[in-house]
Amino acid sequence: MHFKQFTAIITTALLLAGCGNAAENAGAEQTASMSETVSEQASEPVTESDGAVSQEIFAMDTYMVVKAYGDRAKDAVTAAVTEIQRLDALLSTGSEDSEVSVLNRAGGGSLSTDTETLIERSLQLYEDTDGAFDLSIYPVMELWGFTDDSFAVPDTVELHDTLALVDASKVTLNTEEHTVSYGTDGMKIDLGGIAKGYTSARVSEIFKSYGVESGLLNLGGNVQAIGAKTDGSSWNVAITNTDEDGYLGVLKIEDQAVITSGGYERYFEEDGVRYHHIIDPATGYPADNGVISSSIISSDGMLADGLSTSLYVMGLDDAIAYWQDHSEEFDFVLEDESGDLYITEGIAEAFSSDLNVTIVKKE
Ligand code: AMP
Ligand code: MG
Repeated sequence: MHFKQFTAIITTALLLAGCGNAAENAGAEQTASMSETVSEQASEPVTESDGAVSQEIFAMDTYMVVKAYGDRAKDAVTAAVTEIQRLDALLSTGSEDSEVSVLNRAGGGSLSTDTETLIERSLQLYEDTDGAFDLSIYPVMELWGFTDDSFAVPDTVELHDTLALVDASKVTLNTEEHTVSYGTDGMKIDLGGIAKGYTSARVSEIFKSYGVESGLLNLGGNVQAIGAKTDGSSWNVAITNTDEDGYLGVLKIEDQAVITSGGYERYFEEDGVRYHHIIDPATGYPADNGVISSSIISSDGMLADGLSTSLYVMGLDDAIAYWQDHSEEFDFVLEDESGDLYITEGIAEAFSSDLNVTIVKKE
Protein backbone atom coordinates (compact mmCIF):
# COMPACT_ATOMS: atom_id res chain seq x y z
CA MET A 1 0.00 0.00 0.00
CA HIS A 2 1.30 3.43 -0.87
CA PHE A 3 -1.06 5.79 0.85
CA LYS A 4 1.80 7.84 2.25
CA GLN A 5 3.08 8.59 -1.20
CA PHE A 6 -0.47 9.37 -2.32
CA THR A 7 -0.81 11.95 0.45
CA ALA A 8 2.54 13.54 -0.39
CA ILE A 9 1.61 13.95 -4.00
CA ILE A 10 -1.76 15.43 -3.14
CA THR A 11 -0.01 18.03 -1.02
CA THR A 12 2.27 18.98 -3.91
CA ALA A 13 -0.65 19.25 -6.24
CA LEU A 14 -2.67 21.44 -3.90
CA LEU A 15 0.28 23.76 -3.38
CA LEU A 16 0.65 24.01 -7.10
CA ALA A 17 -3.02 24.80 -7.36
CA GLY A 18 -2.66 27.66 -4.93
CA CYS A 19 0.32 29.17 -6.68
CA GLY A 20 -0.29 32.36 -8.63
CA ASN A 21 -2.27 32.05 -11.82
CA ALA A 22 -1.14 28.45 -12.31
CA ALA A 23 -4.48 28.08 -10.61
CA GLU A 24 -6.63 25.05 -10.22
CA ASN A 25 -4.81 22.54 -12.35
CA ALA A 26 -3.04 19.93 -10.27
CA GLY A 27 -0.59 18.92 -13.01
CA ALA A 28 -0.59 15.68 -14.97
CA GLU A 29 3.01 14.75 -14.21
CA GLN A 30 2.33 13.95 -10.58
CA THR A 31 -0.61 11.82 -11.58
CA ALA A 32 1.26 9.90 -14.26
CA SER A 33 3.99 8.89 -11.85
CA MET A 34 1.46 7.50 -9.42
CA SER A 35 -0.38 5.16 -11.73
CA GLU A 36 2.17 2.41 -11.40
CA THR A 37 2.22 2.28 -7.64
CA VAL A 38 -1.04 3.36 -6.05
CA SER A 39 -4.15 1.26 -5.99
CA GLU A 40 -7.59 2.82 -5.99
CA GLN A 41 -7.94 5.12 -3.00
CA ALA A 42 -10.17 7.84 -1.73
CA SER A 43 -9.46 10.19 1.15
CA GLU A 44 -12.17 11.71 3.36
CA PRO A 45 -13.99 14.89 2.27
CA VAL A 46 -12.41 17.99 3.83
CA THR A 47 -13.80 21.48 4.31
CA GLU A 48 -11.38 24.15 3.12
CA SER A 49 -11.01 27.64 4.59
CA ASP A 50 -13.11 29.21 1.84
CA GLY A 51 -15.99 26.82 2.54
CA ALA A 52 -15.33 24.41 -0.32
CA VAL A 53 -15.68 20.72 0.35
CA SER A 54 -13.10 18.67 -1.51
CA GLN A 55 -12.04 15.07 -1.74
CA GLU A 56 -9.12 13.35 -3.42
CA ILE A 57 -9.41 10.02 -5.10
CA PHE A 58 -7.20 7.75 -7.15
CA ALA A 59 -9.23 6.10 -9.90
CA MET A 60 -9.00 5.39 -13.64
CA ASP A 61 -5.23 5.21 -13.26
CA THR A 62 -5.05 8.81 -12.26
CA TYR A 63 -5.22 11.25 -9.37
CA MET A 64 -8.46 13.22 -9.06
CA VAL A 65 -9.84 16.06 -6.94
CA VAL A 66 -13.55 16.77 -6.60
CA LYS A 67 -14.53 20.13 -5.10
CA ALA A 68 -17.92 21.75 -4.48
CA TYR A 69 -19.40 24.80 -2.77
CA GLY A 70 -22.89 25.21 -1.33
CA ASP A 71 -25.17 23.89 1.41
CA ARG A 72 -25.12 20.32 0.15
CA ALA A 73 -21.51 20.30 -1.01
CA LYS A 74 -20.46 17.45 1.25
CA ASP A 75 -23.23 15.13 0.05
CA ALA A 76 -22.53 16.15 -3.54
CA VAL A 77 -18.83 15.34 -3.19
CA THR A 78 -19.56 11.98 -1.56
CA ALA A 79 -22.01 11.09 -4.35
CA ALA A 80 -19.48 12.20 -6.97
CA VAL A 81 -16.75 9.98 -5.54
CA THR A 82 -19.15 7.02 -5.43
CA GLU A 83 -20.02 7.64 -9.09
CA ILE A 84 -16.35 7.84 -10.11
CA GLN A 85 -15.66 4.52 -8.38
CA ARG A 86 -18.70 2.92 -10.01
CA LEU A 87 -17.65 4.07 -13.49
CA ASP A 88 -14.06 2.97 -12.89
CA ALA A 89 -15.26 -0.54 -11.98
CA LEU A 90 -17.50 -0.62 -15.05
CA LEU A 91 -15.02 0.63 -17.63
CA SER A 92 -11.57 -0.45 -16.50
CA THR A 93 -9.88 -2.79 -18.98
CA GLY A 94 -7.43 -3.59 -16.17
CA SER A 95 -10.11 -5.33 -14.12
CA GLU A 96 -11.30 -8.76 -15.31
CA ASP A 97 -14.77 -8.16 -13.88
CA SER A 98 -15.45 -4.83 -15.58
CA GLU A 99 -18.23 -4.68 -18.14
CA VAL A 100 -15.71 -3.79 -20.84
CA SER A 101 -13.54 -6.83 -19.99
CA VAL A 102 -16.59 -9.12 -20.06
CA LEU A 103 -17.58 -7.71 -23.47
CA ASN A 104 -14.03 -8.11 -24.77
CA ARG A 105 -13.84 -11.76 -23.73
CA ALA A 106 -17.17 -12.54 -25.42
CA GLY A 107 -16.80 -10.31 -28.50
CA GLY A 108 -19.86 -8.31 -27.45
CA GLY A 109 -22.95 -8.68 -25.26
CA SER A 110 -25.50 -6.70 -23.25
CA LEU A 111 -24.78 -3.12 -22.32
CA SER A 112 -25.43 -0.90 -19.33
CA THR A 113 -26.71 2.59 -20.11
CA ASP A 114 -23.28 4.10 -19.44
CA THR A 115 -21.36 1.73 -21.69
CA GLU A 116 -23.95 2.04 -24.42
CA THR A 117 -23.66 5.82 -24.32
CA LEU A 118 -19.86 5.64 -24.48
CA ILE A 119 -19.84 3.17 -27.37
CA GLU A 120 -22.44 5.19 -29.27
CA ARG A 121 -20.43 8.41 -28.95
CA SER A 122 -17.19 6.59 -29.79
CA LEU A 123 -18.67 5.17 -32.98
CA GLN A 124 -19.98 8.62 -33.89
CA LEU A 125 -16.50 10.05 -33.35
CA TYR A 126 -14.99 7.30 -35.48
CA GLU A 127 -17.26 8.47 -38.33
CA ASP A 128 -16.72 12.18 -37.73
CA THR A 129 -12.94 11.96 -37.42
CA ASP A 130 -12.40 9.65 -40.40
CA GLY A 131 -11.15 6.92 -38.08
CA ALA A 132 -8.66 8.99 -36.04
CA PHE A 133 -10.70 7.97 -32.98
CA ASP A 134 -11.13 4.20 -32.97
CA LEU A 135 -12.53 2.47 -29.87
CA SER A 136 -11.31 -0.91 -31.20
CA ILE A 137 -7.65 0.13 -30.75
CA TYR A 138 -7.21 -2.19 -27.72
CA PRO A 139 -5.40 -5.15 -29.40
CA VAL A 140 -2.71 -2.71 -30.56
CA MET A 141 -2.48 -1.18 -27.08
CA GLU A 142 -1.90 -4.71 -25.76
CA LEU A 143 0.75 -5.46 -28.35
CA TRP A 144 2.75 -2.38 -27.37
CA GLY A 145 2.42 -3.45 -23.72
CA PHE A 146 0.52 -0.35 -22.62
CA THR A 147 -2.16 -2.45 -20.96
CA ASP A 148 0.10 -4.29 -18.52
CA ASP A 149 3.40 -2.35 -18.62
CA SER A 150 5.11 -5.06 -20.70
CA PHE A 151 6.36 -2.33 -23.06
CA ALA A 152 8.08 -3.40 -26.27
CA VAL A 153 8.24 -2.17 -29.85
CA PRO A 154 6.30 -4.83 -31.80
CA ASP A 155 7.55 -6.82 -34.70
CA THR A 156 6.22 -5.19 -37.91
CA VAL A 157 4.47 -8.31 -39.18
CA GLU A 158 2.79 -8.86 -35.85
CA LEU A 159 1.76 -5.21 -35.76
CA HIS A 160 0.32 -5.47 -39.25
CA ASP A 161 -1.71 -8.56 -38.28
CA THR A 162 -2.93 -6.99 -35.05
CA LEU A 163 -3.88 -3.75 -36.79
CA ALA A 164 -6.24 -5.79 -38.99
CA LEU A 165 -8.35 -6.26 -35.83
CA VAL A 166 -8.73 -2.51 -35.39
CA ASP A 167 -11.81 -1.44 -37.29
CA ALA A 168 -14.66 0.32 -35.51
CA SER A 169 -16.81 0.03 -38.63
CA LYS A 170 -17.22 -3.66 -37.73
CA VAL A 171 -18.60 -2.89 -34.27
CA THR A 172 -22.41 -3.07 -34.36
CA LEU A 173 -24.44 -1.34 -31.69
CA ASN A 174 -28.11 -2.24 -31.24
CA THR A 175 -29.71 0.62 -29.31
CA GLU A 176 -33.09 -1.15 -29.11
CA GLU A 177 -31.80 -4.35 -27.57
CA HIS A 178 -28.91 -2.57 -25.85
CA THR A 179 -26.27 -4.94 -27.17
CA VAL A 180 -23.03 -4.68 -29.08
CA SER A 181 -21.27 -7.21 -31.27
CA TYR A 182 -17.72 -7.05 -32.60
CA GLY A 183 -17.42 -8.23 -36.17
CA THR A 184 -14.23 -10.30 -35.93
CA ASP A 185 -12.77 -12.75 -33.42
CA GLY A 186 -10.04 -11.12 -31.38
CA MET A 187 -11.43 -7.58 -31.61
CA LYS A 188 -11.46 -5.67 -28.30
CA ILE A 189 -12.58 -2.19 -27.31
CA ASP A 190 -11.02 0.42 -25.06
CA LEU A 191 -12.98 3.44 -23.84
CA GLY A 192 -9.90 5.05 -22.26
CA GLY A 193 -9.87 7.87 -24.81
CA ILE A 194 -13.29 9.13 -23.74
CA ALA A 195 -14.09 7.73 -20.27
CA LYS A 196 -12.71 10.61 -18.20
CA GLY A 197 -14.76 13.13 -20.16
CA TYR A 198 -17.87 11.04 -19.62
CA THR A 199 -17.04 10.80 -15.93
CA SER A 200 -16.64 14.56 -15.59
CA ALA A 201 -19.96 15.12 -17.37
CA ARG A 202 -21.70 12.63 -15.03
CA VAL A 203 -20.19 14.26 -11.93
CA SER A 204 -21.28 17.63 -13.23
CA GLU A 205 -24.87 16.34 -13.46
CA ILE A 206 -24.65 14.95 -9.93
CA PHE A 207 -23.36 18.27 -8.60
CA LYS A 208 -26.25 20.09 -10.24
CA SER A 209 -28.77 17.62 -8.79
CA TYR A 210 -27.44 18.59 -5.34
CA GLY A 211 -27.88 22.26 -6.11
CA VAL A 212 -24.14 22.88 -6.44
CA GLU A 213 -23.68 26.03 -8.51
CA SER A 214 -19.94 26.28 -8.12
CA GLY A 215 -17.43 23.45 -8.24
CA LEU A 216 -14.39 22.05 -9.94
CA LEU A 217 -13.28 18.57 -10.90
CA ASN A 218 -9.71 17.74 -11.75
CA LEU A 219 -9.44 14.27 -13.20
CA GLY A 220 -5.71 13.89 -13.69
CA GLY A 221 -5.19 17.28 -15.30
CA ASN A 222 -8.54 17.17 -17.10
CA VAL A 223 -10.71 19.87 -15.63
CA GLN A 224 -14.47 20.36 -15.53
CA ALA A 225 -15.85 23.58 -14.09
CA ILE A 226 -19.35 23.75 -12.66
CA GLY A 227 -20.53 27.34 -12.90
CA ALA A 228 -18.11 30.10 -11.90
CA LYS A 229 -16.22 30.76 -8.66
CA THR A 230 -18.36 31.81 -5.71
CA ASP A 231 -17.37 35.47 -6.24
CA GLY A 232 -18.74 35.26 -9.79
CA SER A 233 -15.36 35.33 -11.53
CA SER A 234 -14.20 32.61 -13.94
CA TRP A 235 -12.06 29.64 -12.96
CA ASN A 236 -8.42 29.88 -14.02
CA VAL A 237 -7.23 26.59 -15.40
CA ALA A 238 -3.59 25.95 -16.25
CA ILE A 239 -3.05 23.73 -19.27
CA THR A 240 -0.26 21.32 -18.43
CA ASN A 241 2.88 21.12 -20.44
CA THR A 242 5.19 18.30 -21.39
CA ASP A 243 7.73 19.86 -19.03
CA GLU A 244 7.85 18.50 -15.50
CA ASP A 245 6.15 21.40 -13.81
CA GLY A 246 5.45 23.82 -16.61
CA TYR A 247 2.23 24.79 -18.29
CA LEU A 248 1.29 26.09 -21.72
CA GLY A 249 -0.96 28.86 -20.54
CA VAL A 250 -3.95 29.72 -18.41
CA LEU A 251 -7.55 29.63 -19.54
CA LYS A 252 -10.55 31.29 -17.95
CA ILE A 253 -13.59 29.03 -18.04
CA GLU A 254 -17.10 28.65 -16.63
CA ASP A 255 -19.26 25.55 -16.95
CA GLN A 256 -16.85 23.93 -19.38
CA ALA A 257 -14.44 21.03 -19.58
CA VAL A 258 -10.77 21.39 -20.56
CA ILE A 259 -9.35 18.03 -21.52
CA THR A 260 -5.76 17.45 -22.57
CA SER A 261 -4.07 14.59 -24.41
CA GLY A 262 -0.30 14.36 -24.52
CA GLY A 263 2.19 11.65 -25.34
CA TYR A 264 4.03 12.53 -22.12
CA GLU A 265 1.17 11.16 -20.03
CA ARG A 266 2.15 7.55 -20.66
CA TYR A 267 5.16 6.32 -22.61
CA PHE A 268 8.27 4.13 -22.63
CA GLU A 269 11.66 4.52 -24.27
CA GLU A 270 13.56 2.00 -26.31
CA ASP A 271 16.90 2.68 -28.00
CA GLY A 272 16.51 6.36 -27.24
CA VAL A 273 13.11 6.62 -28.94
CA ARG A 274 9.99 7.54 -27.01
CA TYR A 275 6.81 5.56 -27.70
CA HIS A 276 3.57 6.93 -26.25
CA HIS A 277 0.03 5.68 -25.68
CA ILE A 278 -1.97 7.59 -28.31
CA ILE A 279 -2.00 5.33 -31.33
CA ASP A 280 -2.61 6.36 -34.91
CA PRO A 281 -5.11 3.73 -36.14
CA ALA A 282 -3.81 4.29 -39.69
CA THR A 283 -0.34 2.94 -38.80
CA GLY A 284 -0.57 1.15 -35.43
CA TYR A 285 2.32 3.36 -34.20
CA PRO A 286 2.15 6.15 -31.64
CA ALA A 287 0.66 9.16 -33.44
CA ASP A 288 3.44 11.30 -34.86
CA ASN A 289 1.68 13.94 -36.91
CA GLY A 290 3.24 17.04 -35.37
CA VAL A 291 0.89 17.76 -32.44
CA ILE A 292 2.50 17.08 -29.05
CA SER A 293 -0.28 18.38 -26.81
CA SER A 294 -3.96 18.73 -27.58
CA SER A 295 -6.48 20.42 -25.28
CA ILE A 296 -10.17 20.69 -26.06
CA ILE A 297 -12.50 23.17 -24.40
CA SER A 298 -16.21 22.35 -24.55
CA SER A 299 -19.36 22.31 -22.45
CA ASP A 300 -19.62 18.65 -23.50
CA GLY A 301 -16.95 16.81 -21.47
CA MET A 302 -17.27 13.55 -23.36
CA LEU A 303 -16.83 15.28 -26.69
CA ALA A 304 -13.83 17.19 -25.33
CA ASP A 305 -12.15 13.95 -24.26
CA GLY A 306 -12.83 12.11 -27.52
CA LEU A 307 -11.59 15.05 -29.54
CA SER A 308 -8.46 15.63 -27.45
CA THR A 309 -7.31 12.16 -28.50
CA SER A 310 -8.58 12.58 -32.08
CA LEU A 311 -6.94 15.95 -32.79
CA TYR A 312 -3.66 14.68 -31.38
CA VAL A 313 -3.83 11.86 -33.94
CA MET A 314 -4.95 14.09 -36.83
CA GLY A 315 -2.11 16.58 -36.70
CA LEU A 316 -2.39 20.35 -37.05
CA ASP A 317 -3.82 20.81 -40.55
CA ASP A 318 -6.55 18.21 -40.22
CA ALA A 319 -7.32 19.38 -36.69
CA ILE A 320 -7.82 22.96 -37.93
CA ALA A 321 -10.03 21.76 -40.81
CA TYR A 322 -12.05 19.64 -38.37
CA TRP A 323 -12.57 22.59 -36.05
CA GLN A 324 -13.62 24.84 -38.91
CA ASP A 325 -16.42 22.35 -39.62
CA HIS A 326 -17.41 22.04 -35.93
CA SER A 327 -16.53 25.43 -34.47
CA GLU A 328 -19.80 25.72 -32.54
CA GLU A 329 -19.02 22.59 -30.54
CA PHE A 330 -15.55 23.23 -29.10
CA ASP A 331 -12.32 25.22 -29.01
CA PHE A 332 -8.76 23.95 -28.84
CA VAL A 333 -5.20 24.69 -27.72
CA LEU A 334 -2.68 22.65 -29.73
CA GLU A 335 1.07 22.61 -29.28
CA ASP A 336 3.24 21.65 -32.22
CA GLU A 337 6.68 20.04 -32.19
CA SER A 338 8.48 23.38 -32.08
CA GLY A 339 6.56 24.43 -28.99
CA ASP A 340 4.30 26.93 -30.76
CA LEU A 341 0.65 27.14 -29.80
CA TYR A 342 -2.43 27.27 -32.01
CA ILE A 343 -5.68 28.32 -30.38
CA THR A 344 -9.14 28.82 -31.86
CA GLU A 345 -10.63 32.30 -31.96
CA GLY A 346 -13.43 31.38 -29.51
CA ILE A 347 -10.94 31.35 -26.61
CA ALA A 348 -8.64 34.14 -27.79
CA GLU A 349 -9.78 36.46 -24.98
CA ALA A 350 -9.86 33.77 -22.31
CA PHE A 351 -6.40 32.33 -22.87
CA SER A 352 -3.08 33.82 -21.81
CA SER A 353 0.37 32.40 -22.44
CA ASP A 354 4.02 33.40 -22.62
CA LEU A 355 4.53 31.18 -25.66
CA ASN A 356 4.17 31.99 -29.32
CA VAL A 357 0.40 31.81 -30.03
CA THR A 358 -1.35 31.74 -33.42
CA ILE A 359 -5.11 32.33 -33.41
CA VAL A 360 -6.97 30.04 -35.79
CA LYS A 361 -9.99 31.68 -37.46
CA LYS A 362 -13.12 30.10 -38.87
CA GLU A 363 -12.13 30.92 -42.42
P1 AMP B 1 -6.45 10.33 -23.90
O1 AMP B 1 -5.55 10.47 -22.72
O2 AMP B 1 -7.83 10.81 -23.67
O3 AMP B 1 -5.88 10.88 -25.15
O4 AMP B 1 -6.65 8.78 -24.15
C1 AMP B 1 -5.60 7.91 -24.43
C2 AMP B 1 -6.14 6.52 -24.30
O5 AMP B 1 -7.11 6.29 -25.34
C3 AMP B 1 -5.09 5.45 -24.51
O6 AMP B 1 -4.50 5.11 -23.28
C4 AMP B 1 -5.91 4.32 -25.08
O7 AMP B 1 -6.62 3.67 -24.05
C5 AMP B 1 -6.93 5.03 -25.93
N1 AMP B 1 -6.50 5.30 -27.33
C6 AMP B 1 -5.24 5.38 -27.84
N2 AMP B 1 -5.26 5.70 -29.14
C7 AMP B 1 -6.59 5.84 -29.47
C8 AMP B 1 -7.27 6.17 -30.68
N3 AMP B 1 -6.63 6.46 -31.81
N4 AMP B 1 -8.62 6.21 -30.63
C9 AMP B 1 -9.31 5.95 -29.49
N5 AMP B 1 -8.73 5.64 -28.33
C10 AMP B 1 -7.37 5.59 -28.31
MG1 MG C 1 -9.24 11.75 -24.83
